[in-house]
Amino acid sequence: MPVSSWIKPEAAGLSVDTGHEDSRFVIDALRKSDRVVVTHGHADHSRPGHAHVIATPETLAIMATRYGENFTEKQTPLAYGETMTLGDVTIRMEPAGHVLGSAQIVIDHGGKRVVVSGDYKRKSDPTCPAFKPVACDVFVTEATFALPVFRHPKPEGEIAKLLTSLQVFPDRCHVIGAYSLGKAQRLIALLRQGGYQRPIYLHGAQQKLCQLYQDLGVDLGDLRPATAGEKGKPRPDLAGQIVIAPPSAIADKWARRLPDPLVIMASGWMQIRQRAKQSGVEMPLILSDHADWHDLLATIDDIQPGEVWVTHGREDALIRALTLKGIKARALSLIGYEDDAE
Ligand SMILES: [Zn+2]
Repeated sequence: MPVSSWIKPEAAGLSVDTGHEDSRFVIDALRKSDRVVVTHGHADHSRPGHAHVIATPETLAIMATRYGENFTEKQTPLAYGETMTLGDVTIRMEPAGHVLGSAQIVIDHGGKRVVVSGDYKRKSDPTCPAFKPVACDVFVTEATFALPVFRHPKPEGEIAKLLTSLQVFPDRCHVIGAYSLGKAQRLIALLRQGGYQRPIYLHGAQQKLCQLYQDLGVDLGDLRPATAGEKGKPRPDLAGQIVIAPPSAIADKWARRLPDPLVIMASGWMQIRQRAKQSGVEMPLILSDHADWHDLLATIDDIQPGEVWVTHGREDALIRALTLKGIKARALSLIGYEDDAE
């Protein structure tokens, strides 16, 4: 039976159904579904309201933090490396290196193996285990940054830029826009690795998930609230400090209370200068949680799959490049997975 007969794109998302009554599930379902296997906690991949969610324990904890304990009727944790049988299908989770708990789903049926990688990256991230290449017949990949122009710099270099700025502008509050799941915690952990041990201040919207990371054993050091005090009073004590806030807050009234704010944004998109300019960002930090062009191709070289399916993003360029290398590739064109919290 060809792989495409039992795993295929449907309106709810990439769906598995071998015909065995207990085999059915949807991956990262976009609409309410009976059984969903979730790759990671970003909002476009993990939605509340399903009947049954299977995910890593970390992803389940992230969903509970974001949506409340009742985000699903039933939940089953599946840790990295553990196997679960669903009818005549087995599934296993392996690290994707994207955010805490992020997993590739390894699906075996009828002697064939499909790996659905979800979102992934290959560059260093102290907050989650590194992506693990798994040999397979079909590798399902994202293509968020699948253009040759996308080449993410080393994260350590971006952190060095930030640390230099703190020395050059010791009186300016460095307010950094970073998405609240994954990006904020990775930025903090990289700063700690870079030797920055002072307190880091958090906008209210960043606190819960940072606390969860700490509870799950990711050491982020001394974190303090950057709340504006009573009735929006200014915080002169934050001069020369790092404040991390959601991207929507950095150009907002909220940031104006901070002493002489230097507006920074941490995102893979910051390599597009126009995007930085438009959002009023003084200092772009190119920090991506997705594979860039080189890493997408290097990953496929590592895995040597029989076939590649591309879920979303810039699939055309990737498919062309793979076809030139003699690798069979097709676009799934899944709709509804945004640029992500990138
Ligand atoms: Zn994601």
